[in-house]
Amino acid sequence: MSSTAVAETAPLTRPDHEVVIIGAGFGGIATGVALKQAGVEDFVIFDKHSGIGGTWWANRYPGIAVDIPAVYYSLSYMPFRTSTRVFPPGHEVQEYTEQIVDEYGLRPHITLNTRVSGAIWDERTHLWTVRFDDRTVTCRFLCPALGYLEVPKLPDIPGIDRFAGKAVHTADWDHDFDYAGKRIGVIGTGATALQLIPELADIAEHLTVFQRTPIWLAPKPDFRVDWGLDQFLQRNDRTRKVVRGAVAAGIDLGLVGLALSMRRLPRVAPALTAGARGAYRMWLRDKELYDKLAPTYAPGCKRPSLSSRYMKTFKNRDRTSLITEGIERVTEKGVVTADGVEHPIDVLVCATGFRVCERGFSPAFEMIGAEGKELGDYWHETRYHAYQGVTVPGWPNMFMVACGPNSVILGSILTTVENTAAKARRLIVEARRRGATRVDVTPEAYREYADKCLEKMEGSLWVTAPCAGSNTYYVNYQGDLAVRPSTNIGQWLGTRHFPWRAYQFGKLAPGPQPAAPVKKAVAKKTAAKKPAAVKAPAKKTAAKPPAAQQIPAQPLAADNPTQ
Ligand code: NAP
Repeated sequence: MSSTAVAETAPLTRPDHEVVIIGAGFGGIATGVALKQAGVEDFVIFDKHSGIGGTWWANRYPGIAVDIPAVYYSLSYMPFRTSTRVFPPGHEVQEYTEQIVDEYGLRPHITLNTRVSGAIWDERTHLWTVRFDDRTVTCRFLCPALGYLEVPKLPDIPGIDRFAGKAVHTADWDHDFDYAGKRIGVIGTGATALQLIPELADIAEHLTVFQRTPIWLAPKPDFRVDWGLDQFLQRNDRTRKVVRGAVAAGIDLGLVGLALSMRRLPRVAPALTAGARGAYRMWLRDKELYDKLAPTYAPGCKRPSLSSRYMKTFKNRDRTSLITEGIERVTEKGVVTADGVEHPIDVLVCATGFRVCERGFSPAFEMIGAEGKELGDYWHETRYHAYQGVTVPGWPNMFMVACGPNSVILGSILTTVENTAAKARRLIVEARRRGATRVDVTPEAYREYADKCLEKMEGSLWVTAPCAGSNTYYVNYQGDLAVRPSTNIGQWLGTRHFPWRAYQFGKLAPGPQPAAPVKKAVAKKTAAKKPAAVKAPAKKTAAKPPAAQQIPAQPLAADNPTQ
């Protein structure tokens, strides 16, 4: 990947802002709250969208709702102020993000309609330069809070460009288009599709669903809460926290703990699969649908969901077709499957998900570190890892909030959001306390953590035979875990009590700093190339010693044995 070099005219010793946060979704907002609570006021949150909410601003397809109860899908310190249902619709989740922004006074910190096109670390000034289309901004600390499911994935099906009808991705829904009375085709049967499909079935002349891999789901116990239950939980914070704790414990023991122990419990996954398939048989009571809709991979291999309407939709065969033949190509008029049948459609909906831990997309802009290396290239050449999901050696003062590898845990992403934001805050506060201008995770701590993740991954469900054919995005193209192989409590502890010896703190020598040549980050990244084979984990990281050791610096105490 190439970078165009441009000369910077003056050394940048004082940043425009102490902290730049990229993204005004839950990650960016929670980071803003965490900084404010720590007394850090000089921060700005940039977002490419015209509104607040991140994924909940971008995703507005019909039927969108959260499939985790609001009592758990919310920040621990602030419940939903208004929610009508156990599982609120998408617009209520977006409104909740606005409520947090207002309650914590974040609005003046947020700049919308501003897309970051690159970021580069300057070793001479210990600053990040964040590049936009029309300007740059410098900061001491950079917190990418880009979301985990951020760049829509369009299917690379032959002929898709030639489709003459309306084509749309769920993350970029066209609300001005009239879908009613059309022949609609949906590619994909993930958590998004299963919310959308019943809605489209209600209005389409005919709905054709193209399924590659079926999804595990359970009925959604959804009901209204605006008769007083929502207010009760707001008034009784202790009850709310007990409920949250119970849910988290249930997820840790029943879901994460089990998924991480599957090598040691080889009979469990096949038994769970058989049990779940039995439940599907009773639920569907339709042999043909059962054969198509019941997954053969184990529950938990990929993200399951909840819906009480999805299965019913396929029972109305006059209005809905479920196609399980592979897609061969798309024509001007429809979709041709491997059996040679052309399925005529007017609208093609791609519910095909997102790019997760992929070079060129995670992040979707260049992040040039201390050695002049691009982050996606570094991960591609080594493996996708981040210490506690937050830091990478050679990318100093950059703290990823719920968007790095090894960060997200099964359950509510807001747990990860809070934990990683807390870690970013802890590092920034400590750097301030030490008067440090540079904080970098040591290559040893990074490697040790990465090895631990790989070891846990080897024992986990996701790489065992019962997950074969699941096409899970939990494991990326290199065979690395996008998710963090630990419990929620493990993440809470790890992000708040990591040892200071895992980090090197440095500061610039007093006096004027020499002017530094700053490279210009290239706005668009090139497409990822798949490596020929999954590489074995390198025992030593490719990162060189942090540059703070190489420049005139006044090293601070590198280790705090009390932590
Ligand atoms: P997804 O889970 O990645 O599902 C994408 C679907 O598209 C899969 O069925 C996939 O099949 C299919 N697909 C992709 N490329 C294809 C191709 N070339 N040909 C045929 N089929 C193709 O994406 P998603 O449904 O958008 O969900 C993404 C994530 O968003 C979820 O896992 C969840 O974390 C989040 N989400 C959350 C909520 C919520 O309420 N909290 C709601 C919706 C989504 P394969 O499985 O075979 O790859």
